[in-house]
Amino acid sequence: MPEVFADLVGQDEAVVELRRAAAAAAGVLRAGAADRAPALLTAGAGESAGAGESAGPAGAADPLGPAGAVAPGGVDPSAGMTHAWIFTGPPGSGRSVAARAFAAALQCVHGTGCGECPGCRTTMGGTHADVRLVVPEGLSIGVNEMRALVLRAASTPSGGRWQVVVIEDADRLTEAAGNALLKAIEEPPPRTVFLLCAPSTHPDDISVTIRSRCRVVPLRQPPADAVAEVLVRRDGIAPDVAQWAAAAAQGHVGRARRLARDPEARKRREAVLAVPRRLTGVGAAFDAASALIEAAEAEAEASVTEADTTERAALETALGAGGTGRGAAGAMRGAAGQLKELEKRQKSRATRAQRDALDRALVDLAGFYRDALTIALRAPVAPVHTDTAALAGAGAQKWDAEGSLRRLEAVLACRVAIEANVKPRIAVEAMMLALWKG
Ligand SMILES: [Zn+2]
Repeated sequence: MPEVFADLVGQDEAVVELRRAAAAAAGVLRAGAADRAPALLTAGAGESAGAGESAGPAGAADPLGPAGAVAPGGVDPSAGMTHAWIFTGPPGSGRSVAARAFAAALQCVHGTGCGECPGCRTTMGGTHADVRLVVPEGLSIGVNEMRALVLRAASTPSGGRWQVVVIEDADRLTEAAGNALLKAIEEPPPRTVFLLCAPSTHPDDISVTIRSRCRVVPLRQPPADAVAEVLVRRDGIAPDVAQWAAAAAQGHVGRARRLARDPEARKRREAVLAVPRRLTGVGAAFDAASALIEAAEAEAEASVTEADTTERAALETALGAGGTGRGAAGAMRGAAGQLKELEKRQKSRATRAQRDALDRALVDLAGFYRDALTIALRAPVAPVHTDTAALAGAGAQKWDAEGSLRRLEAVLACRVAIEANVKPRIAVEAMMLALWKG
């Protein structure tokens, strides 16, 4: 088994920070073995909520613990380590991969994430007794689940190192669950570490108060070569296919894997890349806009329908739908509330899935115009879409660099508009007209 950070593709800076933190954590344990375990201070303690970024170690130094915690030479062994972390980054950048690898490094007997020791192996295999992984399959994380989790996380680590709680999709915490988590993060048990994963630190994703108590590890979009390498090594995909998929996915590891393996995903991408040559007039531009929106809706629906049905059935069973007898009426009133909340969450998930699908299409389209631009400029860079490079070349000849750039900007402006809550159809129609007129 390779060392635990090996699958964290193209995230050199984050890996350096996490290795340093794991080493610091190991130092805390060593100091604790000699004395008692020194406490870590939470990141952001003392800084006002939401105040600037404190991603670096400097912003979240942990000058903590009893005086006895300071090692000979005056180096605080806990500097670099803290109780609560948020891994952020664009979809596909490997947030949960990073969190798991860091959890393993914390449990590693060498404190490095060697990948070989029992601590590393059981954490990566998902069986370590002191690592709890929360993956909200569809349903958001509710308050009861969170309270139970926080309670267990407060117990002494059975392996003698750390209690680690990994929360994937921490942006899906209910408000009450978020508050329960916040309490634990504000006054963390000395050996407990929380690792949250979220798309960003925007207040829509993570509450300002939780964020202010966490150290942020921002992940970036990994380069295509690194993505291709991992597809070949880990997924056994043929090198030429991996290279093509990694370039076409523009740094999204999961998307690259899907493109390499799923013919449906390839078909959807081809439909998007057919847009530029279909734009022959105003009517065609509106048609192309409709087609793009509807394709995104269909893709999103396919991805959430099954989960929606399963969740609803599970909740109805749990609530004992159709029950009679004493208390059934009261139970039904409570049940109606829970079903309503489920529907609300499912609706927001569907909206998000649609936006994600549309955004993927826009990223593909942007790649096409970026190819046209680089060809027009004779820039010595590889095309994003090798399979439509000839078409991009024809575009480059027709539009020149300036026209290619204007079109690329139109696609990017559309993404920004949708992000800013402009109705997707309106934004896409405006983009299509701009792409046609140039
Ligand atoms: Zn290890």
